[in-house]
Amino acid sequence: MTSATLPPMKLAVVGTGYVGLVTATCFAELGHSVIGVDIDEAKIKTLQSGKSTIYEPGLEELIQRGLQSGLLSFTAQLTEVINDVDMIFSAVATPPDEGYRADLRAVFSVAEAVAKQATKDLLFVNKSTVPVGTALKCEERIKKILTERGVNIEIPVVSNPEFLREGMAVQDTLVPDRVIVGIHPSTSLRTSSNERAKKLLEELYRPITRIGRPLLFMSRESAEIVKYAANSYLATRISFINMLTEFAELSGADIRDIAAGIGLDHRIGPKFLHAGIGYGGSCFPKDVKAFLAAAADRGLTFPIIEATDAINRRQRERFFAKILKSLPKKARVCVWGLSFKPRTDDMREAPSLDLIPLLLKNDCTVTAFDPFAMENAKKVFPKEVHYAATALDAAKDADAVVLLTEWDVFRGIDLKEVKKIMNGRNLFDGRNVYEPEDVEGAGMAYHGIGMGR
Ligand code: NAD
Repeated sequence: MTSATLPPMKLAVVGTGYVGLVTATCFAELGHSVIGVDIDEAKIKTLQSGKSTIYEPGLEELIQRGLQSGLLSFTAQLTEVINDVDMIFSAVATPPDEGYRADLRAVFSVAEAVAKQATKDLLFVNKSTVPVGTALKCEERIKKILTERGVNIEIPVVSNPEFLREGMAVQDTLVPDRVIVGIHPSTSLRTSSNERAKKLLEELYRPITRIGRPLLFMSRESAEIVKYAANSYLATRISFINMLTEFAELSGADIRDIAAGIGLDHRIGPKFLHAGIGYGGSCFPKDVKAFLAAAADRGLTFPIIEATDAINRRQRERFFAKILKSLPKKARVCVWGLSFKPRTDDMREAPSLDLIPLLLKNDCTVTAFDPFAMENAKKVFPKEVHYAATALDAAKDADAVVLLTEWDVFRGIDLKEVKKIMNGRNLFDGRNVYEPEDVEGAGMAYHGIGMGR
């Protein structure tokens, strides 16, 4: 059978979080038959009913379409689906442990569960962000179990790191910049197993390569490193521009002009040069630290990445110190934006999680508004924070307004109305969203980042 005539793939995606749910749904949208699996039964029930468990633009519609077409389904019982599919994707979380190394327990537990139940050749594809060497460790664990069971089947482990951006995840998955696949060329597996793995992935990603998006095969080790290197580089660009903000403030310069000036150089480019309170989220902070830990494990240091992390921390602290210094006693503070970035409800490592406790410790009353993250915020601050129905309501009687997430709704707000209902006049713009003149024109005091004001 030639690859062009292969039927759609049958796959399971284990872990239906931000990555797994989008991956499963988009593969179904592309015509494959996909079962999303999660240990969280409540999550599975919600997904089975056609509701998305995360806010991601465009996702719920695709979930419903997948369920209706029958190409997408969800279950909490991994063991029941293992032998019904050609490949198992693992997209479980790999959170940092105490030493900031990735906690791989969930990845190993999925790999072992597959090895214990498989009755035919399968492919294990790891989508989670994992340190170099993890695919090999998974394969060794799988092989040990298969040998103990005395079954003559093979389950090669492939590395397929994910690069989607929350808020743009559907588009990034359907039309990615590239797909990276790490396959081990010379394991003790049958040669045909590796060839089969390559073929299956080529077929799976055919709808992507058909639109000209590159599918890059490399070793598993290289693939695992690509993910950390990409995130560390992007984080470094953010910290590079943030490093210059204090210098700009002390020199009477404007960081936005500096970023525009250097970003127009084709060798540099304009992206990831937006100064602000630094990066957050579930990936950059943890991946930067995990990459440093991986280097340390080999007796190496990554001084550029160490500085990236230190600058990011300092950037947040510097902005928060400025806010606290300006506040009257028992201040009322309005926080605009709780998610770590716009177009997502994800609050992992969001600046709001650092600022709100600091404000509360300083006897402030906090009223917050976020278009999509308030339900998640209520799990962290059920009573401590007041949640407003609109951005404007949140600013009522506030001594200061602090913008932490650049949601569109804040960009378009009528600043004169904000000033009218506030008690004080300070606006802290953690994302350099506003023109200082506009804010000042509305009668407020503007505090941006890297602008000397
Ligand atoms: P998440 O926490 O949103 O989702 C993980 C899911 O796995 C949860 O639904 C959880 O219930 C489930 N799970 C945990 N253990 C399980 C098990 N043993 N069996 C079945 N399900 C299990 O995490 P995420 O943000 O989707 O990230 C997943 C991985 O992808 C991480 O390694 C992350 O670093 C990486 N990644 C994330 C992003 C992103 O933007 N979120 C982007 C690229 C890569």
